[in-house]
Amino acid sequence: MTSLDQLLEAGVAGKRVLVRSDLNVPLDGSRITDDGRIRASVPTIRRLAEAGARVVVTAHLGRPKGAPEERYSLAPVAARLGELLGADVAFARDTVGESAHETVATLEDGQVALLENVRFNAGETSKDDGERAAFARQLADLADAFVSDGFGVVHRKQASVYDVAQLLPSAMGTLVATEINVLRRLTDSPERPYAVVLGGSKVSDKLGVIDNLLGKADRLLIGGGMVFTFLKAQGHEVGRSLLEEDQLGTCREYLARAEELGVQILLPGDVVVDTEFPSGDREPQPRVVPATEIPADCLGLDIGPAAGADFAAALADARTVFWNGPMGVFEVPQFADGTRAVAEALTRTEGLSVVGGGDSAAAVRALGFDEAAFGHISTGGGASLEYLEGKSLPGIDVLEG
Ligand code: ADP
Ligand code: MG
Repeated sequence: MTSLDQLLEAGVAGKRVLVRSDLNVPLDGSRITDDGRIRASVPTIRRLAEAGARVVVTAHLGRPKGAPEERYSLAPVAARLGELLGADVAFARDTVGESAHETVATLEDGQVALLENVRFNAGETSKDDGERAAFARQLADLADAFVSDGFGVVHRKQASVYDVAQLLPSAMGTLVATEINVLRRLTDSPERPYAVVLGGSKVSDKLGVIDNLLGKADRLLIGGGMVFTFLKAQGHEVGRSLLEEDQLGTCREYLARAEELGVQILLPGDVVVDTEFPSGDREPQPRVVPATEIPADCLGLDIGPAAGADFAAALADARTVFWNGPMGVFEVPQFADGTRAVAEALTRTEGLSVVGGGDSAAAVRALGFDEAAFGHISTGGGASLEYLEGKSLPGIDVLEG
């Protein structure tokens, strides 16, 4: 596999370099509410531009269904990317059509263009190898080399991630290289004690991580929406809290295996509940109750203050911490304290602290933490989780193969 350094040494001046970035940022209309992913994409783009490449960036936004949809246009992202680079970014109104070809043809050495949302093309995410390859050929026509830097999509076998890398000389961008290095430190002989904190709402998505990390971590702290399936698995009633009934057996098995392996599983002793899921229509009425006594008409929306302190204590002497998934509905201030307590504990850990997951990273920023206080904030939720589950990542394998 070629690294970005090797590609730069070989010389990129005057060459068209296609860069797959992850620019999938949250938007409120056309306003970018969190530009973390754009900022994370800048270093690779800048290095290529400074070396005289004609940089052609491709990325997706949201989940359009293989056809153009104005609300998923990358136009606002092109503007923000230009501000961050301190240079104009030419924006192509299509991905591989006339506008893309014209835009790329008029690029000068060191200039940057962004192609319209790659998922406006059905070939990008097609399950049909031939369809994907055909679209990848259209992308490859626009460039002389490919740099894979969209860490958030490397677990996807998609045309702009996987197939195009087979058609052009390819290299790993600095963001992907950094992310993979950090993930290796979390899985290959991590420094101990090693604590893993899991939360968020995608319970079944994250159980595979527990499965794989039970053999590696010393402590597993569980909060967020997933905790209620564990509490229920222990025989407690959880009211109207988020619950995945079909995962109860799996949770029971993990609890048993943790005990066998001597892995400490920490569940919150108290939780913050309300009778309604927060919405704009009603002022939240948060109430702290023991986790074993959640009233039938309530739902758990955060870990409680005692649990926040317990979790922080369990992280205090950890030398390696991986955190994925907010501890509560942090978007609403009344349910953000648990997430804040965990984030704060991570900023104080001496060893490696890693925040993974789109919402977790957004939470850290929304709660006003300095990103530099964490060892690493990952840009790719699904990709880091799949890696930590022990799965292989097609977008990485294709570069290494
Ligand atoms: P990440 O993107 O970091 O992997 P997820 O997408 O799994 O995290 O989950 C993030 C979401 O989980 C947040 O929007 C948050 O509001 C929600 N959440 C956290 N705790 C709860 C809870 N107790 N009940 C319902 N939703 C929750
Ligand atoms: Mg998420």
